[in-house]
Amino acid sequence: MLKNIPSVDKVLQWSEIKEYLETFEHAYVTLIIRYTIDDFRSRIVSGEKMNLEHLKQSIIKELQGLITPYFRRAVNALGIVLHTGLGRAPFSKGIADIIYSVSSGYSQLQIDEYGRRADRYRKISRLIQVLTGAEAGIIVNNNAGATLLILNTLAKGREVIVSRGQLIEIGGAFRIPEIMAQSGAIMHEIGTTNRTHLRNYEDAINEQTAALLRVHQSNYRIIGFTKEVKLEELVQLGKKYSIPVIDDLGSGALIDFSKYNLPKEPMVQESIKTGADVVCFSGDKLIGGPQCGIIIGKKQIIEKIKKNPLTRTLRCDKLTNAALEATLKMFLMKEETLIKNHGVLGILLKPLTDIKHQANKCAKQLKKLHSSKLDISVKADVSEIGGGSLSTEELPTFVVAVKSKQMSIQELAKKLRQHRIPVYGRVSEDTLLLDFRTVLKGEEKIIVEAFNSTLNGQ
Ligand SMILES: *Cc1c(COP(=O)(O)O)cnc(C)c1O
Repeated sequence: MLKNIPSVDKVLQWSEIKEYLETFEHAYVTLIIRYTIDDFRSRIVSGEKMNLEHLKQSIIKELQGLITPYFRRAVNALGIVLHTGLGRAPFSKGIADIIYSVSSGYSQLQIDEYGRRADRYRKISRLIQVLTGAEAGIIVNNNAGATLLILNTLAKGREVIVSRGQLIEIGGAFRIPEIMAQSGAIMHEIGTTNRTHLRNYEDAINEQTAALLRVHQSNYRIIGFTKEVKLEELVQLGKKYSIPVIDDLGSGALIDFSKYNLPKEPMVQESIKTGADVVCFSGDKLIGGPQCGIIIGKKQIIEKIKKNPLTRTLRCDKLTNAALEATLKMFLMKEETLIKNHGVLGILLKPLTDIKHQANKCAKQLKKLHSSKLDISVKADVSEIGGGSLSTEELPTFVVAVKSKQMSIQELAKKLRQHRIPVYGRVSEDTLLLDFRTVLKGEEKIIVEAFNSTLNGQ
């Protein structure tokens, strides 16, 4: 096979390939073909059985990738509410409209009514003040950036005291010890994994101490014989020694989830009220907005952060500002209105009867069309929240359970992910489970269409 690999010029003569030259620049098509041939060659060398048809299909797939956007809508039937791979928070329709309007022309970003350059953060800062009671606020690229920036601003070259029970790692290689090292702050660990006492903090304080850091455990819990120091105690200690307290909340809730029979996630307002000097949290976890990191706290600290050159490197663009403003404004509304309109909250608090109704509707259609090829049933199951939020909590849900009589379940799941609008479901042993907690209203139709195109092609 190695000897028979065609040249790039030869491939360009294949009729299925030639047609791409009518639309795309010759040089780019050539490069794509060359890279694909190189890849094909290495696969043969590594022992894979390949033929010319495989090569042709790979090249067509690569070229097709020029036309189809990869960053496109997908259906989340995994049941994980905040799934980083699926873009975390789905926005409500109103926010999508605002993003469209801001991006399809010029827009107000950092200009005032006199046409002068203005502070880009002032409008968001005001909104955050109203919502949280903080003196000031600023947003940056993401919460990992926010943590880095705060540590760098307050503690570069000096010590930050943190409990060993809070040295977390979250997805995408965010690890507190490494972020600390990158910020230039020196980590001073105290306590043990399961127990840290107030006296451990106090004993560690010295003239090099620049801050006390609390980190929300987010995606795990320590249970059993445990002790964590409360924020109020840390704040008192900080006051006693004039050392600022940093509170990295991770997801950061603006509403009290315990009202809705969910575990209470640390609330941003409470952190500020308790007296944390600077608090940070993600814009795209429970807040349900765009990716960003929100930093709030004492005016003097926020001002210092604004002057840090690193802030400029983590700046948010007009789309993020517009989407976050719209998201935060939803929180100003009456709570019932908020929940009705807010993407993430709507999913977290979606009534079980609605989920069941949607699952039944979809199952009925699939049965009607495909019962010769599939076994379909509706079952009670549980969904995860994900994104390091309310981590130990499982939400009741309903799934459509699909068993395939012909192709393997892996193959079926893959074909659905390759649909025009990709559908992501979870495979459990020989069954594909489509979790309807995270399937948005009307998306049942897309799921049925994905099954149709997958199965009718057979
Ligand atoms: C999720 C999380 C982060 C990182 O937030 P991103 O928005 O993903 O950058 C930082 N700290 C904690 C405690 C988190 O839970």
